[in-house]
Amino acid sequence: MALRESRTDSALREGAARIDPSAPLATGRGTKFPQGRTVRSTTPLPSAIVLKRATVDVAIIGAGAAGLAAARALHDQNMSIVVLEARDRIGGRILTHRDPGAPVPLELGAEFIHGAAPELDEIVRNAGLAAVDISGRRWQSFGERLRPADDFWERLDRVMRRLDKKRTPDRSFESFLAKKPGGRRLAHDRRLALQYVEGFHAADPARVSERALAEGGSPRGDVRERRIGRVLDGYDRVAEWLAASLGDQVRTSAVATRVRWAPGNVSIELRHPDGRSRPSVDARAAIVAVPLGVLKAPVGEVGAIEFDPDLRSKRPGLDHLAMGSVVRIVLRFSEPFWASEWFAKHAKIEGLDTLSFFHTNDEDFPVWWSTYPVRAPILVGWHGGPGAAALSQLAQEEIEDRAINSLARQFGLPLRRMRGMVEASWLHDWEHDPFSRGAYSYQTVGGVDAPAALARPLRGTIFFAGEAADTEGRTGTVHGAIASGRHAAAEVERSLTTRFSAVRRAESD
Ligand SMILES: Cc1cc2nc3c(=O)[nH]c(=O)nc-3n(C[C@H](O)[C@H](O)[C@H](O)COP(=O)(O)OP(=O)(O)OC[C@H]3O[C@@H](n4cnc5c(N)ncnc54)[C@H](O)[C@@H]3O)c2cc1C
Repeated sequence: MALRESRTDSALREGAARIDPSAPLATGRGTKFPQGRTVRSTTPLPSAIVLKRATVDVAIIGAGAAGLAAARALHDQNMSIVVLEARDRIGGRILTHRDPGAPVPLELGAEFIHGAAPELDEIVRNAGLAAVDISGRRWQSFGERLRPADDFWERLDRVMRRLDKKRTPDRSFESFLAKKPGGRRLAHDRRLALQYVEGFHAADPARVSERALAEGGSPRGDVRERRIGRVLDGYDRVAEWLAASLGDQVRTSAVATRVRWAPGNVSIELRHPDGRSRPSVDARAAIVAVPLGVLKAPVGEVGAIEFDPDLRSKRPGLDHLAMGSVVRIVLRFSEPFWASEWFAKHAKIEGLDTLSFFHTNDEDFPVWWSTYPVRAPILVGWHGGPGAAALSQLAQEEIEDRAINSLARQFGLPLRRMRGMVEASWLHDWEHDPFSRGAYSYQTVGGVDAPAALARPLRGTIFFAGEAADTEGRTGTVHGAIASGRHAAAEVERSLTTRFSAVRRAESD
C-alpha cells in the first residue's frame, strides 16, 4: 500500500479558529531560525522620519523566494530587516521532501528551472549547487499508441504564435480557440495548446487573457526559453541560500494578521499559528511578499491580512489576477518499469528509458514526467487548471487511486500490476493550504498590466513582491518571484534613501 507523507491542510475547511500551518515536512535542512528575537537595527538611516516605535527599516511578510530575495538584497545594503513567515519553514511554494527510499529530492511544489532564468543560474553557481537540463524525450498518447512528441514546441508554437498581444478588446484563450485558428489542420495542435495553457499556466481557459499569453505565455522559437532544468540538490537549497546570511532576522510561525500603515510607518500585528498573539513589528516600510491567494482572501480567514487603510487602489489589479489550480502527485515505484526490458516488450516500444515528459488526454492526470536524466523509480503526475480545482476536493487516497488508474490506462498495464509497483506517494494540497490558496497566478481578460499594477508601491511605504507581481512575463515561476523581490528591495531602498536625504536637507535648512 502506498504511503502518504504530505497531508491535506484542512484548516480552511475546518474554520479559521484552528490555524494549521501547512507542510510540516521538509523544513529547510541545516538552517534553523530561532523565533521571536528582537531584531537589532543596524541602519544608517535617521529615526526622526518615523514614529519612535519603528524597530526595523523594512519588514518583509513572507519567506518564499520573493520575500527571501528581497530580504537578502536589503540585508546586503546594511538595512535592518525582519522577515515574518506564517509557516514553520521557509521556502513557501518551494517544498522539497527527502525520502530515504528515493534517490533524489522530491519536489512537492516548484521543480523546474523554466527557460533562461539568470536569477537562478547565479544562485546555483554561488551556492555551489548542481543543476541539469532535462535532455530526455517527450512522448504522447492521445488515445492511440505511445509515440514520441519530438515536435512538441513547434506544434505548440503553431497555435501560440496566432495570439494577438495588441488585441482590443482582450479576450479569453477559450474565445481565441473557438475561432479555430489554423483551421482543421491545427485541430490536434490546438488541443495540445489547451493542455499547455491549463497545465503549465494552471489557468482557466475561459478566464486567461489572450494578450497576456501572447506576451510571454510560451517560449515561442527561443531555444533558451525552451530549456527546462532541475536543481539536483533540491529546490529548497535555493531558498536556504537566499536565507543563509539572514539568521534570526527570519521569524517563522509568525502569521501577519493586520498591517496598519501611514507614510513612513508600518505596524504589523502577528499571531502564532496556534492563535496566540505575538508582539507586533514596527518598521519604516514593508514588503508584502505573500501569494496572490492570500492577498485576495477575505479578512478574518486564516492567513488573510487586513490592511488599514485598505488596499483600495490595488483592487482593480487584483481583480485581473487569478490563482490557478494544480494537483501534483509524486509516485515511487519498486522499479522504473517504463525503462525496463519487460515493458518495452509488453508495449512493443523501444526508447522509453529516456522518457522525460508524457502527454496524454487522461482526464485525471494528463501529464506525467520522470526524473530523467537522473535514473530513479519516480514519476510525477500533473493536472493544472479548472479540472485540478475539482480534483483537489477529493480525499488524498482517492487522488492517489486516480493517479494509479491513470498510469495503468496510459501505459496499458493491468491496474493490479500498476498498483503493486507503487511503493509510496506524496502530494501537497496547495489549493486548501491557507498560506498559498492555489498554485500560482495568471492574468485574466483585460489584465495584461495587472502584475505591474500590483507591484506599484503605496506612498513609498507598502511594497509588493511575489510571483504575481513580476512585471517581465515570468509570473508563476521561482525566478520571477526572485526578480520581483529584488525589484521591490531596490524600490524600498530608493524610497528610504530619498526620505533620508529629505530629512537631512530639512535639518540643515
Ligand atoms: C505545485 C507547484 C508547482 C510549481 N512548479 C514550478 C516550477 O516547476 N518552476 C517554477 O519556476 N515555479 C513553479 N511553481 C511556482 C513557484 O513555486 C512560485 O512561483 C514561487 O515559489 C512563488 O514564490 P513567492 O515568494 O512569490 O511565494 P511563496 O513561495 O508562496 O511565498 C510566500 C510566503 O508567504 C507566507 N505567508 C502567507 N500568508 C502569510 C501571512 N499572513 N503572514 C506571514 N506569511 C505569510 C507563505 O507561508 C509563504 O512562505 C510551482 C508552484 C506550485 C504550487
